[in-house]
Amino acid sequence: MFKKLCLIGVGFMGGSFALAFRESFPNCEILGIDVNPSATDKAIQLGVIDVGSAHLNSLLGFKPDLIMLATPVGTFENIARELSTLDIKNTLITDLGSVKGKLVYTLEEYLGENFVGGHPIAGTEKSGVENSSKDLFKGKRCILTPTQRTSPKALEKIKNMWISLGAVVEEMNPFLHDYVFGAVSHLPHAVAFALIDAIRHLSKDDVDLFKYPGGGFKDFTRIAGSDPIMWRDIFLENWENVLKAIEAFEASLKNLKELIKSRNSQELTNYLRSAKDCRERIN
Ligand code: NAD
Repeated sequence: MFKKLCLIGVGFMGGSFALAFRESFPNCEILGIDVNPSATDKAIQLGVIDVGSAHLNSLLGFKPDLIMLATPVGTFENIARELSTLDIKNTLITDLGSVKGKLVYTLEEYLGENFVGGHPIAGTEKSGVENSSKDLFKGKRCILTPTQRTSPKALEKIKNMWISLGAVVEEMNPFLHDYVFGAVSHLPHAVAFALIDAIRHLSKDDVDLFKYPGGGFKDFTRIAGSDPIMWRDIFLENWENVLKAIEAFEASLKNLKELIKSRNSQELTNYLRSAKDCRERIN
C-alpha cells in the first residue's frame, strides 16, 4: 500500500514507527528528517531509515506517499506551516503526538483534509532513535481523531496502516482525547516530576534521600525520567486539561492529608481501600 514514507522527527517514537512500518511494508523507502543530524546518522546506521536530511524541503524530490510527524508537539504548527508551502497536495499526513484538541484543527488549517490526527498509546520514558522498538505498537491502542473535515479515504488508509502495524484503532473526538489523556497520562507525569522535586527539597545537607530509593519510589517515578522538552510541550499544549487534572489531584491529596491529620482511622482506611479497588480494575 505504501512505497515511500517521510518521517519528520527521528527519535524514539519516530524510529519505532519506521521499524514497525518497514516490517509491514518491506519494500518501502524511508526518508528521515530531523533538526539533529546525529539522529539521522544514527538512524541510517541502525537501518531505521534509508536517507536522512535536516531540511523539510528535501521531501519534494523524495515524493512520499505518507508523511508521519513525530517531533515534540510544540513544533507541529511551524512544521505544518512549512509543509503547506510545499507541493504535497495529495500526500497523506498523520502524526503520533500526545496532544490533539485544537492542535488538530490548527494542523488541518495548514494541511487540509488529508491530515489525520493520531496518538498511539504506547511508549516509555526513553527517548532517542537508539531506543526504538519495532514491536512497540503491537496490541496497543492507537487513537485517531478525525474531524468533519477529514477525508474518509485518508482516515481509512491511516486506520488500515495502524492495524497492519498490530495496533488496535479507536476513534475519538480531539477534545475528548485531551481530557482523557490529560487525566490518565499527563497528570501522572506531572505528579512524578513534582514528586522528584519534593524529595529534592526534603533532602538535607547531611542526607541525600535519593540514595535510598525503595521499589515503590522507583516504580512511581520511572516516568520522571522522560524527555523534558517533550513533556514541556505536552503540558503547555494541553494546559487547560492538565491544570484541571492537577486541581483534582490537589483536592484528593488535601483530603488524604486531612484524614491523616485528624487521625480518622476508619475514613482513612475507606479512602485507601477505595483507591486500591479502583487500581485493581486496571489489568
Ligand atoms: P524523542 O526526543 O525521542 O524524538 C524527537 C525527535 O524530534 C528528536 O530526534 C529531535 O531532534 C526531533 N526534532 C525536534 N524538533 C524538530 C523539528 N522542528 N524538526 C525536525 N525534527 C525535530 O521524542 P519521542 O519520544 O520520539 O516523542 C516524539 C513524539 O511522540 C512527541 O510528539 C510525543 O508527544 C509523542 N509520543 C511519545 C510517547 C513516548 O512515550 N515517548 C508516546 C506517545 C506519543
